Amino acid sequence: MAKAASAPTPMMAQYLGLKAEAGGDLLFYRMGDFFELFFDDAKIASQVLDIALTTRGEHQGEAIPMCGVPVHSADGYLARLIRAGHRVAIAEQTETPEQARARLGSKALVGRAIVRFVTAGTLTEDALLDSRRANLLAAIGEAGGQIAIAAADISTGRLEVVALEGSGIEAELARIGASEVIARPGLAERIGTAHAFESRGFDSGRAETDICRHFGVKTLDSFGTFSRPELSALGGLLAYLEHVGQGRMPFLAAPVRAGTSDHLAIDPATRESLEIVQTASGQRAGSLLATVDRTVTGAGARALAADLSAPLMDRAVIEARFDLVQWFHDDGPLREDVRARLRALPDVGRALGRVAIGRGSPRDLGQLRDGLDAARSLREKIGRLSDRPALLDVLLPALDGHGALVDLLFNALVPTPPTETANGGYIADGYDAALDELRRLAGDGRRAIAALEARYRDETGIAALKIRHNGVLGYHVEVPARHADALMAQDSGFTHRQTLAGVVRFNSIDLHEEAGRVSQAGAHALAAEAAHFEDLVAQVMDRRDAISRTADALARIDVSAALADRAVESGWARPRFSESPMLEIAGGRHPVVEAALGKSGTAFVANDCALSERDRLWLVTGPNMGGKSTFLRQNALIVILAQAGSFVPARAATLGLVDRLFSRVGASDNLARGRSTFMVEMIETAAILAQATARSFVILDEVGRGTSTYDGLAIAWAVVEAIHDVNACRCLFATHYHELTRLAERLDALSLHHVRAREWNGDLVLLHELAKGPADRSYGIAVARLAGLSPAVLARAKSVLAKLEAGKAQTGGIAAGLDDLPLFAATLTAEPEKAADPLREKLAAIDADSLSPRDALDLIYALKLLSDSGPI
Ligand code: ATP
Repeated sequence: MAKAASAPTPMMAQYLGLKAEAGGDLLFYRMGDFFELFFDDAKIASQVLDIALTTRGEHQGEAIPMCGVPVHSADGYLARLIRAGHRVAIAEQTETPEQARARLGSKALVGRAIVRFVTAGTLTEDALLDSRRANLLAAIGEAGGQIAIAAADISTGRLEVVALEGSGIEAELARIGASEVIARPGLAERIGTAHAFESRGFDSGRAETDICRHFGVKTLDSFGTFSRPELSALGGLLAYLEHVGQGRMPFLAAPVRAGTSDHLAIDPATRESLEIVQTASGQRAGSLLATVDRTVTGAGARALAADLSAPLMDRAVIEARFDLVQWFHDDGPLREDVRARLRALPDVGRALGRVAIGRGSPRDLGQLRDGLDAARSLREKIGRLSDRPALLDVLLPALDGHGALVDLLFNALVPTPPTETANGGYIADGYDAALDELRRLAGDGRRAIAALEARYRDETGIAALKIRHNGVLGYHVEVPARHADALMAQDSGFTHRQTLAGVVRFNSIDLHEEAGRVSQAGAHALAAEAAHFEDLVAQVMDRRDAISRTADALARIDVSAALADRAVESGWARPRFSESPMLEIAGGRHPVVEAALGKSGTAFVANDCALSERDRLWLVTGPNMGGKSTFLRQNALIVILAQAGSFVPARAATLGLVDRLFSRVGASDNLARGRSTFMVEMIETAAILAQATARSFVILDEVGRGTSTYDGLAIAWAVVEAIHDVNACRCLFATHYHELTRLAERLDALSLHHVRAREWNGDLVLLHELAKGPADRSYGIAVARLAGLSPAVLARAKSVLAKLEAGKAQTGGIAAGLDDLPLFAATLTAEPEKAADPLREKLAAIDADSLSPRDALDLIYALKLLSDSGPI
């Protein structure tokens, strides 16, 4: 049809051009006070945002779906779209309708262009960010088959580059915890979670020039020597930021090179199972971080999360952190004073990030002023104290040096600057004589207008006469309609402008003149303020590296004082390090479980752990709910806390530095990744056996549980042997397979432990107390009773158990045959089933040749009946 083939309207053509540029991202198309979305974008957005989907015009014969959001509240909608996993391209009007008409005539279409892309990893808006959480963008580079990751928090400028030295890319990405990962097409698909971004920026050959240009240096040597994959990652990251900001670059501090061996390696499964910075369901509450975090600034909270995600391997650096925590720990009044000062501090790093990207407001400058000023006085306060720990000698100088800038900002800005520049009023009186004069003129004009109002009232005798101002008419005289006639008269000196329901509006020559003076002076004043703003921003940018170091130093002080506070609150101890691979924890507690129990008034039972080279593998048995998992995890968490520079929930702790930490706890399903519980368990166990070294620490909980008893037992048995003989790492192994305790006879460095329980008056009492030796029995049925299983089922379970145990006694125990697995399986399965299995008896008695078809059918029914009601 003719209509279907008709060319798109000029506006639609412009839209389609911009949409092609936006690619798969949603396009926010600016039309006056709204951002409009069309076609599929509109369908998606209306669903995610729960806003009305309408139509507008036609395209190729079809109505065009449309929805829109008001510009002034766009941030909230953007946040929801980003959270739902979308990316948004913002197309703004690049000229006013008047400019468009002047350019192209009366029917001109306003020019539009994509001015930026809003993506999860490149947000800077305060409203879209969680102040206590870093927001990272990671770019993956590749050269010569080697991989590196560059990660930036553009809200603060932190930039890190890490080359993968054999460790898995998933593990490193899990440590970084980026909101957005990008990589070249191809590589992106291989990684799965990465967004494909095609750019020559990833070419390691040309990246060096791009990076030098961005940082304004001649060579990269001042930052260190970068490998080709690192250059590729950095180059890709810069190219992406350029694309996202459409040429407007955020502030990035000099890249810091991190080696994967600088950190305690923790793979994604271990992070998930230990719930370090978030719980398995993605919540912060209930994680180790949430339980430890007593920081009082957003920057401190972000730094603590980074610390716990990447515990250190350098003993000297960890000890330096301990010294500072200890200093705050031992001096309560000092700690409280410093924390009170920090609490009042604005977020210097994020304010700098916004200013750098061109989205800074006068309020951000005010925050920088107040933050840097507070940093200076904090330095003065701490600098006066003697016996300072060494780390402070590094941090204190970073707090100061902004005197001239702070003074300038104090002189230039009003005490509480607004978040908008549009209405001016943020540059202080007395800063610029010319601006003061403009303001005086405008003020005089406004006073003259007030005087005019009084004069007109007098002259006309209309007490209700008012001079008002609005955006359309500017200044005008307004009188109630009943008085309008007097002013309508030819010689009244007033010109009619507008008649509304109850009022009539006029202009006058005097008013017009005064209003002209006011608006001219006002416009000049606004322009003068804007010029000062630009200048102040430039002055801030000159010092951006130093300001970002100040922000980091403040965050480190906050973290140290907060850890000290946490340690005092729950009596945590300063860990000690040993050269030997030991893990000796006296009175250890699980901080998260302890906090949860504390709420209900239950005390946590502290337990010791003492792994050494000679006794490095503990096999922990005991009843369900006895506290095995808790004990395993608490020791892993103590290692993390210690190497992150925190005191630990224990009476005392001594450990040899751990290079890799592994946790395989519980049979967690990962259906999202399309793997069964048992498959996941085995993949993770295989990874542990392949990677754990003599300096690693492994906790394994109920390995082998996800399959049949004998398969599971056999696997657990073999895994314990391998950990003991091959990996020779420190390991806590919790199991319900009592048979494994026999391994203690053969494996020198393995010892047996159990969580204690007592049956008292038929009730089970869980003591949550660790003791030497194997558990006497498993108490599974007693726990099931606690859980409320019906008496009938419990009675039946008891009788089945008795039969099984009788069978076990005859064969010498389930483990009797374990030294010879095939035999073991045969005896075990044979005994209890042979005892009474009518099904087998019936089958054995069949004489197949003599059966008629009818008999055969009857027989099948009979067998079916037997199998449904058989003993076990
Ligand atoms: P299962 O074998 O069924 O997995 P488990 O032995 O691993 O059980 P946990 O999950 O560690 O047991 O602990 C069960 C509950 O017991 C915890 O949720 C906690 O409430 C309590 N508990 C564990 N350890 C302690 C402790 N040391 N002090 C006090 N309560 C504890």
